Amino acid sequence: MTTAITPANTPDSIEAAQRLAAVRDNIGRAARLTGRTADDIRLIAVSKTHDADAIRPLIQAGQRVFGENRVQESQDKWPALREEYADIELHLVGQLQSNKAAEAVALFDVLHGLDRPSLLTALAKAMDAAGKRLPCFIQVNIGAEEQKGGCAIADTPALIAAARDADIPLLGLMCVPPAGIEPAPFFALLAKMAREEGLPRLSMGMSGDYDTAIMLGATDIRVGTALFGDRTAPARPDPTSGRGMLRNSRAR
Ligand SMILES: *Cc1c(COP(=O)(O)O)cnc(C)c1O
Repeated sequence: MTTAITPANTPDSIEAAQRLAAVRDNIGRAARLTGRTADDIRLIAVSKTHDADAIRPLIQAGQRVFGENRVQESQDKWPALREEYADIELHLVGQLQSNKAAEAVALFDVLHGLDRPSLLTALAKAMDAAGKRLPCFIQVNIGAEEQKGGCAIADTPALIAAARDADIPLLGLMCVPPAGIEPAPFFALLAKMAREEGLPRLSMGMSGDYDTAIMLGATDIRVGTALFGDRTAPARPDPTSGRGMLRNSRAR
């Protein structure tokens, strides 16, 4: 008797299911430590740089919420995937240029990078034109890093007030703490700011620190590498690509 190779039991699908289960286990453990459950945490699978063939196994394993950081890349990948799977929720987790506001409003369900008044104005206009209000997180430059996106901590209350005035639905605050140092104090600071503003959700925590973020109140975690493998090199060597002469001489 042979076992058919179906989408659910190819090596890619099994590996995707295992990675997803491992991340969900960790989410559950961290959530329980703070009196919550895994269901209280939204796992956003950050699929940037990965193509549809890498994304599909994770969808087949049950994941429905995805994150991207580029409008153009998302336009290339997601419309077709959304036709295959109707119940996908797509988040833009990265920076957004004001001139891409209309495209972002058309494509995404949630935006995480609202960080300045000019973008707020562009988004409000795009949402009016589309007849659709997109829920947003305000991104805070929590480590006061010069090169990083995000609203300065001191300017955040005014941006929150402006978003409320413009009728933009605010979910909460988002941050990407400085690399290379302990993120916990930054997560705690973001949680305090959100509490003071009466904002219910916190988008914080990535592959390296999502358990810490959850223990400090994260409701939305953005996880790429732990679900898809390394972005710079294939997680598993791809036998059909690379520099081997035999592989390169094969018909495509
Ligand atoms: C890429 C990215 C992530 C995911 O990072 P990993 O370390 O791969 O989990 C999360 N948030 C943002 C804003 C990103 O750009």
